[in-house]
Parts: sequence; C-alpha cells; structure tokens
Amino acid sequence: MKIYFWLPAAALLITFADGCSGSKHVKPSAMSFAPNVVVAHRGAWKKNNLPENSIASLQEAIRLGCTGSEFDVHMTIDDSLVVNHDAHYAGKVIDQSTYAELAKHKLSNGETIPTLRAYLLAGMKQTKTALVLEIKPAFSNKERGAYIAEKAVQLVRALKAEPWMMYISFDYNIVKKVSDLEPKARVAYLNGEKSPVDIKNDGVWGIDYHMDVFKKNESWIADAKKEKVNLNVWTVNKEEDLKWFIEKKFDYITTNEPELLFELIK
Ligand code: MG
Repeated sequence: MKIYFWLPAAALLITFADGCSGSKHVKPSAMSFAPNVVVAHRGAWKKNNLPENSIASLQEAIRLGCTGSEFDVHMTIDDSLVVNHDAHYAGKVIDQSTYAELAKHKLSNGETIPTLRAYLLAGMKQTKTALVLEIKPAFSNKERGAYIAEKAVQLVRALKAEPWMMYISFDYNIVKKVSDLEPKARVAYLNGEKSPVDIKNDGVWGIDYHMDVFKKNESWIADAKKEKVNLNVWTVNKEEDLKWFIEKKFDYITTNEPELLFELIK
C-alpha cells in the first residue's frame, strides 16, 4: 500500500528535480565570452600540476578568466564520448575499450576520466569561457570520424550547450560534418594545409594552425582577416612567440601558459 502511495510522489520529485537541473546552468542568453585571446590548451593544468583535460583544469581556466578552454574527445567502443588527449588511456586503446574499463583508472587528482557530458555540464555553469571541443580522428577505424562528430553535436544539442561551443579537428571530414550539421557553429580546422580562402569557400568558420604554419605563410594572417576567417594558433608557450601573435592581433592564442599570456596582454 505504502509503495503505491509513494510512487507518484517519487515520480513528481524526480520530475521536479529534473526540471530544476537547468537552473544550475547559466542561461545561454547571458553568454558573453571574456574579451581576451587566451585559450587554455587542455585546460589550465601546468602551474598547479593538474591532470590535462581534467574537469579541475577546465575549472582553473574558468577561474583565470580565459576566453576559451580546449579539450580533446574520443569515443569508446560502447559509444561513450570521453575527454582525453591520447588515443590510449591507462594502457588501453580508448576506441577498443568500454567506458567502464577506462573508468577503473583514475586521473592523478582522483577524477574519473571525464565523459563529454560531465565536462560540458561543468563548463555550462559559467558564461565567460568557451568550451573548445577537439574531436579526435577515429583511431582504429577512420570511417567512424563522422559518426563521432554527429554524436558530439547531438549531445551538445541535448544539453543546449551550443552557445558555449567551439569545435576543432585535424580531420577535415569532421570539420565539414560539424559545419554541415550546425552551420552557425564555430568550427576551426587544425591541420594547416588549407588557405583561408579555401576555408572560407567551404563555409568553415576558422583556422587554428600550428604557429610554424603562420610563420611560414605570414600572408595567410591578412588573408584570413580579409575573408573574415577566425584566427587561432597552437600551441604558443614562449614569451617571444606569444608576443608575436599578440602583435598580429589573432582572435585566439592557444597556450599551455595562460598565466603568462595574461601577463603579456595586461
Ligand atoms: Mg587538442
């Protein structure tokens, strides 16, 4: 009898809790990225010896006021999107392992390897720092890249995380897939061989190239500005290099040294 009495009450409570969960996150309309160029590469981990790509490193990038915090995403064999740089984690190939197998091994700060869902939800508690999601090319099966891109976009939509997002990838098929699925999304290409004009013609939002690419093809900087292709560069850590890209007025500079970059742009 008691069970029958409590079931509707429990259902009501669950509905209520679920309905309230959105209020933990800031309304997208309040989104206004910090007006600086600083993108923390794999979060802000170095100074405080945090694990790269941990939620703690994302929270530190947010605390510093970075305009963006970058992180890398792979998919497990059972279709979980997880945040990690390498295609391997704890000696296992991520796309050949289940999430449960990976989750047995903690990060150095005690965190479980973050799911993309947990990472996005952590990032959506604020409105100053963009979530820069790198979709890694599929490791064992290259054909799976487009599927991973689709799954990542679906999750972003389900969480209503679009206003926080930037996407990057070395895999041009992934870049194009995300741009096709979300024509308004901020999507940038990482690999470095495409000119700003090519990128513009493909309807892609930006380029995010290794710093040597821009030093070799300096004219691409002006070309990108002319074509209104967004400019980001990775991974700039030395003071002289940081100064070079600040002077060239890049939209974003991705760095392992966000504290130093903040000092330089003061
Ligand atoms: Mg990355």
